[in-house]
Amino acid sequence: MKRKKGKKLFIFEAMWLREETSIEVVREAWKKGEDASRSISNTASALRSWRNKTFGQFAKEMRECQNKMKGLMEQEQTEEKDPWIPSLKGYKVSSSRPADNVDAPVWVKELIHEGRWCDSTITQILNDEERAAIKGIPLPLHDIDDMWAWKFTKDGTYSVKSGYFQELKHSRLPKIASSSRDDKGVWKGLWRTIIQPKIKTFAWRAMKDGLPVRKNLVARGMQVDYRCPMCGEEEESNVHMLMRCQDARNLWYASPLRIKTEDFNVSSFLEWVIELHTMRMDVKWWNLFWNFAWSLWRRRNLWVFEGQKLETKEMLHKVPVLVCEYEQANNRKGKMQQTPTLENGWKPPDEGVYKINNDAAKLEIGRTGVGAVMHDHQGDVLISTCDTIGGLFEVEVMEALAARHALTISLDSGLRKVILETDNLKLFQCLSKKRIECSTFGVIVKDILKLALNCSFIDFSHGRRGGNKVAHNLAKISGKYMEFRAWMEEVPNEVLDYVNLDI
Ligand SMILES: [Zn+2]
Repeated sequence: MKRKKGKKLFIFEAMWLREETSIEVVREAWKKGEDASRSISNTASALRSWRNKTFGQFAKEMRECQNKMKGLMEQEQTEEKDPWIPSLKGYKVSSSRPADNVDAPVWVKELIHEGRWCDSTITQILNDEERAAIKGIPLPLHDIDDMWAWKFTKDGTYSVKSGYFQELKHSRLPKIASSSRDDKGVWKGLWRTIIQPKIKTFAWRAMKDGLPVRKNLVARGMQVDYRCPMCGEEEESNVHMLMRCQDARNLWYASPLRIKTEDFNVSSFLEWVIELHTMRMDVKWWNLFWNFAWSLWRRRNLWVFEGQKLETKEMLHKVPVLVCEYEQANNRKGKMQQTPTLENGWKPPDEGVYKINNDAAKLEIGRTGVGAVMHDHQGDVLISTCDTIGGLFEVEVMEALAARHALTISLDSGLRKVILETDNLKLFQCLSKKRIECSTFGVIVKDILKLALNCSFIDFSHGRRGGNKVAHNLAKISGKYMEFRAWMEEVPNEVLDYVNLDI
């Protein structure tokens, strides 16, 4: 169908079906048309105005609520005189402020810093009971912008930086679209390997041609020598560094894998991996392969950045030892944990849509742990994340907090077509029916629905508890980090076993 310039294309959204009135609208509009094409256009325009009325109103309601809240905030409740803490007697603070401290906060908003209760200020002026009560109030997201701040981590785990992610996502999409080969097995195979998460990330980047080799740097406009720093002869491309360079050729041939790279007539590293996959090697073989590939990258970086030259002999000796140690450590861990079952009912989303699983856990430290994992249609993990929130709440509030965290991170990472899955039935019902209760739970549901307006497609689904092992374990381990964490294309070791079983 041709469409007029400037007129938005009509798109039917699955979530409309949840509104009972939509079916009536379709039935009525269809009847009025004289032939099929009239009926279609009648229905489209009826649905369009129905949508504006139904969802337009919803957005308006949201705005009104926001304004009301803003108004309340601006009324500036004093932390001392006004009642504002639901779980305290009289809803008021009874501690008297330190007389000698003229800087002590007067307003509630002074106790909030960057969307969180400010620990140090609260400790300074309030007693234990009040402190616990205040920290038990989950803060709503009044301003989405505030939630987009990102914390960078130092210990080698990735932070999801939306720019970086976008870049990778874009480099990923055309390849999937243009690839006539079925390279699905390659990605799944990578997830089945037992290698360190950092090596998995390396492998992923190598296959997507996302490593900062000189060819890629020059392509991005950087003024660097294009030649390979190891041989100084050819252009340093991904495939040269990992396969064609004399150094790489020697290593592959001398390794226990005995690969003669000259035997492969391929033009990219990914092609090579796909070809190797057709040989149906086992997990142990791939563990070695990826560790050797990574050691080539490491040797190159040691040479470029630190002037150190690693001998091939040394790599040949060390790599298999490291692989063995890691495999053994993983086996031990696997035996100690109860193995989760495969009967989990987890279904991958459609292509282009991302599925968000999330869960919450009570932590011993009196905080709520939240965890989430985002999968694509191939079952690959795109992001995993966890965080802790001060206070312990009823189950549904905790589940709602987890869903809110998950959706925030997804949006921040640029995932706008999503299925938000929860194993809490009440939360699922409230979200899909847009039912907002007048309670703490309702506040968080409202937040989630507000965030949902930023998605180009969102669907809510209810999954069984068993299908949520990764998110559940992320929530449980969040206490270990005490602060917000996100990993890109990988999950922390503690939950790795569950990822493989989720696919
Ligand atoms: Zn070279």
